Amino acid sequence: MTLPWLDQAMSSLRTAYHADRMPHALMIHEAPGAGGDWLANWVAQLVLCTEGGQARSHIAPCGHCAGCQRVAAGQHPDLSSVRPIDDSRQIRIEQVRELAQELSLTSHQGGYKVGVLSPADVLNRFAANALLKTLEEPSPRTVLILVATQPSRLPATILSRCQRVRVAAPSRADAVAWLESTRGRGDWKAVLDIVGEAPMLAADSDAAAVVQIGTEVRRGLEEAVAGASDPVATAERWSRAELPLRLRCFENWLTERIRGHFGDPGFLTEVGAVTYLQRPETVLNIRELFELLDGVRDLKSALETPINRSLALEGLLRRLASRGRRDALSMVR
Ligand SMILES: [Zn+2]
Repeated sequence: MTLPWLDQAMSSLRTAYHADRMPHALMIHEAPGAGGDWLANWVAQLVLCTEGGQARSHIAPCGHCAGCQRVAAGQHPDLSSVRPIDDSRQIRIEQVRELAQELSLTSHQGGYKVGVLSPADVLNRFAANALLKTLEEPSPRTVLILVATQPSRLPATILSRCQRVRVAAPSRADAVAWLESTRGRGDWKAVLDIVGEAPMLAADSDAAAVVQIGTEVRRGLEEAVAGASDPVATAERWSRAELPLRLRCFENWLTERIRGHFGDPGFLTEVGAVTYLQRPETVLNIRELFELLDGVRDLKSALETPINRSLALEGLLRRLASRGRRDALSMVR
C-alpha cells in the first residue's frame, strides 16, 4: 500500500537518509486520519530495511526483507512504540523513561534504533520533561518519531528539537480515488462527508455501515429539533453502539449549520465539507450552535472517562429540542 499524498515527504526523508542527514527527531504533524502513523512506520522501515542498507538507500524501504516485515508486524527488536496505556489517554513518564533506556542500548542489527510516540500530543507534563532529556542528548543512530494532530499542545522546547514533517489530508477527489483503489467500490464520498477528510479512518471503516449511521443520526437530530423524538430513548440507543462515530456525525451536522449561517463553505476546514442543503426550518441561533458544538466536542474527548455518556448525550439532545421549540415560537411571534 502507498499513500500518494505523502510522496513528497517520503522523498525528502529518503534523500536525507541517503545523504546521512537523517534527523534525530521528527515531528509528524498530521491532519486527523491523514496517515501520520503510516508515515512513522514507513520511516522505521526506511532506516531498518536490511535490503537497501544506507549505501543503497534509494531502494529502501524494500517492503519485503526481514527488517521491513518485522516493522510492519510491529515486532522489530530495534523499534519501540509508545502509546497511551489502556484508558489513561496519556503517555506517562515511566513509558518515556523505558523508551529512553531502550534507545540507549546497542541496536540488535547494528543499525538504527527507532522510537515512535503516537499520539505525542498526549504526553503529560512529566513525560514531556523526560523526553526533552532524550532529545537534548540523542544517542547516535537513533530516530525518535513523534506523531501529533495538535503539536502546539507540546512544549516549545520539544518542538524546536524536532524536524517537522507536515502530513496534510489529500483533496477529496484524491482521497476517493485512493479509497477506490485500496478498498474497492463504495460510496466513499458519503463516508468522507461523515468522518471528515480522513482517508485512513475511512479505509478502516465499513462504508455501507458508516453511511447508514450518518443517515440515522441526521434524521435523529432533525427529529430532535422538531421535538418529534424522545431524547432519552435516542441517547440510550446511540450510546450503545458506535458512539464516537455518531458524535462525529453530530459535530458535522452542527458545523454544516454554522457554515450555513456564514454562507461560506470554506469555513471551519477541520470538519467535513458541506454537501447538504441548509434546512430552513432548523435555523438555530449561531451562538447556540457553537455552544452545542463545544458540548459535542467535550463529550467526544471525555468518552474514555467514567462519565454517563447516555445522560450527557441526552442533555445535548434536549438543548437541541428546546432551541428548536423556541425558534418555532419566535417564528410564530
Ligand atoms: Zn526492506
